Amino acid sequence: MQGPGKRKIRRFAIMGGTFDPIHYGHLVAAEAALDSFSLEQVLFVPSGNPPHKKEYPVTEARHRYLMTILAVATNPHFEVSTVEMDRPGYSYAIDTVAEFHKIYGPDTEIYFITGADAILEILTWKNVERLMELCQFIAATRPGTNLDVLHGFLDKLPENLRRRIHLMEVPALAISSTDIRKRVAQGRTIKYLLPESVEQYIAKNNLYRP
Ligand code: NAP
Repeated sequence: MQGPGKRKIRRFAIMGGTFDPIHYGHLVAAEAALDSFSLEQVLFVPSGNPPHKKEYPVTEARHRYLMTILAVATNPHFEVSTVEMDRPGYSYAIDTVAEFHKIYGPDTEIYFITGADAILEILTWKNVERLMELCQFIAATRPGTNLDVLHGFLDKLPENLRRRIHLMEVPALAISSTDIRKRVAQGRTIKYLLPESVEQYIAKNNLYRP
């Protein structure tokens, strides 16, 4: 497994997602979390087979992994882990978090950053109570996120779960992977929505073409 390295880390976040493809919205969200939550590192964890069936064919994990590597290459606080891709079958957040909890020990605080849309489904996640004991969540909202729905959902959660979820507004998440895939399929520009190295990787490997 490639992971965060051997340095002792006290406070880090797992940035979970499909990253199909990774874009500046994800990178800005990770940097904002690093700053706001005084993290030492953000570990990007591209999903293997997403646990919830997607409405589109998800790109091979090795492409999503390599694009993530290219995107974080210049940030000393960002790393990429293959932990979910290495695991056969579906990836569940609880397995990922439990693995890092075991590696780092109970003194290390773990956060899990993901999109606020995914948080709305959190009660369906495997072993959610245990998961929320092992980590806290940072839910990144994007312009257009229905905050009334989100707050309504959070307010109904039991207190032990509610206090472990933090909302973080990320205007740069106006950029979305869905929009980027659509643009490529239509032959439109994706310049300045994601790092140039990722843009070139997409072109070279003919990703997202119809
Ligand atoms: P996804 O389809 O990649 O994304 C869902 C929404 O959240 C999209 O709008 C996406 O925007 C946004 N998003 C995704 N990752 C983000 C991030 N790290 N920061 C900000 N926005 C993000 O979501 P997913 O892959 O299903 O799930 C996200 C994470 O939750 C993964 O790590 C997954 O393993 C975990 N998960 C676990 C379970 C479980 O344990 N049972 C169930 C569901 C999800 P873009 O399309 O622009 O990325």
